[in-house]
Amino acid sequence: MASLITALRDLVARGRGVVQQFTARPPDSASDPETAELVRRAREAHTAGRRDEEAVLLHEAGRTELAHGRPASALGYFRAVLRLDRDFLPALVALGEAYEAAGDRREAVRAWERAAETHPALPLLTRLERAYREEGRPSRMIAVYQDAVARAGNDLALAVALGRVYLELEMLDEAADQLEKVEVRAPDLPLVHAYLGAVFERRGETRAAFEEYRRALRLGHAFEWPHVCAACGAAAAGWRERCERCRAWNTVHPARG
Ligand SMILES: [Zn+2]
Repeated sequence: MASLITALRDLVARGRGVVQQFTARPPDSASDPETAELVRRAREAHTAGRRDEEAVLLHEAGRTELAHGRPASALGYFRAVLRLDRDFLPALVALGEAYEAAGDRREAVRAWERAAETHPALPLLTRLERAYREEGRPSRMIAVYQDAVARAGNDLALAVALGRVYLELEMLDEAADQLEKVEVRAPDLPLVHAYLGAVFERRGETRAAFEEYRRALRLGHAFEWPHVCAACGAAAAGWRERCERCRAWNTVHPARG
């Protein structure tokens, strides 16, 4: 009985995905004045051959549609952005968010999974992590981070995130190994020492835990991975699709540590 219900639910979810594909309005029939203006400017950019600007304007149009509760329309814009620039991370993230807002969790997860295969980036992984956690699939959480770390070996932010996931799943030895590997390469990150403190505390190693917490606090209170804008160098507490200082899109990346 339970499997029948699951099968039916899958069918409904798939059907909804198909319906959305056909009902997603093309990016030239905007009814919202704000969206229409963004689309008009996007067309100008297109005519002038400014593809980067066109992508950003279409992304903003998608964001506007999403904010106004029109996820199906937003999907059309985000897809158009990715046809112009398949590396535009904000649209890869937003595509899944639009599916999720449309009530299609399965397609949201698929969109983020596909994106993470080519772009092992933290904002995609944290969204997948949340979805897997809610679905009670911890092994998928680990797999997706291990895969990303294997493909983006230099990204310490990802390496720390894998350590955090191990910790959360009480895989304390794996967590300690992973975080100590990061510590060798970036000894002064408060985040790493805070997590190590938590690992030692759960293992009952109170003295070592205290030592790590003390180091974490001495180093600062930044318990988010530090990010930095590649365009203007501004620091940010975490990933943003747009730099808060210079307003550039898709330029905020994890700092090297
Ligand atoms: Zn900037």
